Amino acid sequence: MPAERLQKILARAGHGSRRSAERLIVASRVTIDGAPATLGMRVDPATQRIAVDGIAIETPRGEVTLMLNKPRGYLVTARDDHGRRTIYALLPDAPPRLRYAGRLDRDTEGLLLLSTDGELVHRLSHPRHEVEKVYEATVEGSPTNGALERLRAGIELDDGPAAPVRVERISADGPARIRIVLHEGRNRQVRRMLAAIGHPATALRRTSVGPLALGSLGRGASRPLTDGELDQLRTLVGLPVRSALPGGRSD
Ligand code: URA
Repeated sequence: MPAERLQKILARAGHGSRRSAERLIVASRVTIDGAPATLGMRVDPATQRIAVDGIAIETPRGEVTLMLNKPRGYLVTARDDHGRRTIYALLPDAPPRLRYAGRLDRDTEGLLLLSTDGELVHRLSHPRHEVEKVYEATVEGSPTNGALERLRAGIELDDGPAAPVRVERISADGPARIRIVLHEGRNRQVRRMLAAIGHPATALRRTSVGPLALGSLGRGASRPLTDGELDQLRTLVGLPVRSALPGGRSD
């Protein structure tokens, strides 16, 4: 996805002001993947080779991709007009471009991915890429096998049918716990599905997204993805692994 104006990227990479970057472009000294650049072009420095006089520029834009174990009670939004706590309160050193990929509702906890890489965020949030998400719910009552079968068969919600990839009972003793695996990520989807079979969730946690699992990450804690995790994630959504890009890994 074309991400940013070329002049801006050049300026950030140390090629003077935006105005002098424009002059470089007009003088045909800039190429994108080997072809001459034009003024106003939008370019993605993560996937395209930008060169001045044939030499690839350094893009000081090291991308940051994190997983956060979101606690209950935090909103997944950039800003809240009512002054409620948002996930960014848990990420005081977050770079300004850090965006979340998909949402969790305020009462749901668990794995949330955030990245400064706009294309990665876009693809992770898009249902087309069918990234599997695993949720564990504690529910009211004791769902019968028949109730779980209804869930497996798919539930008709207000905004269309919702078919889980998998539904499993985790425990029948004590409060009933259920694992639900979805490809989609519609607003409060798991909660609405469970309410529809008469067993609303009393607690909900997302334990994994695609190949990534929360593991032992504490509530409210975050950590950058490992190189291997990032490569797995990029492969899953059809992006080249960073080590295969010109200039190798930049983060
Ligand atoms: N389903 C929900 O009900 N809530 C979430 O946060 C995510 C999926």
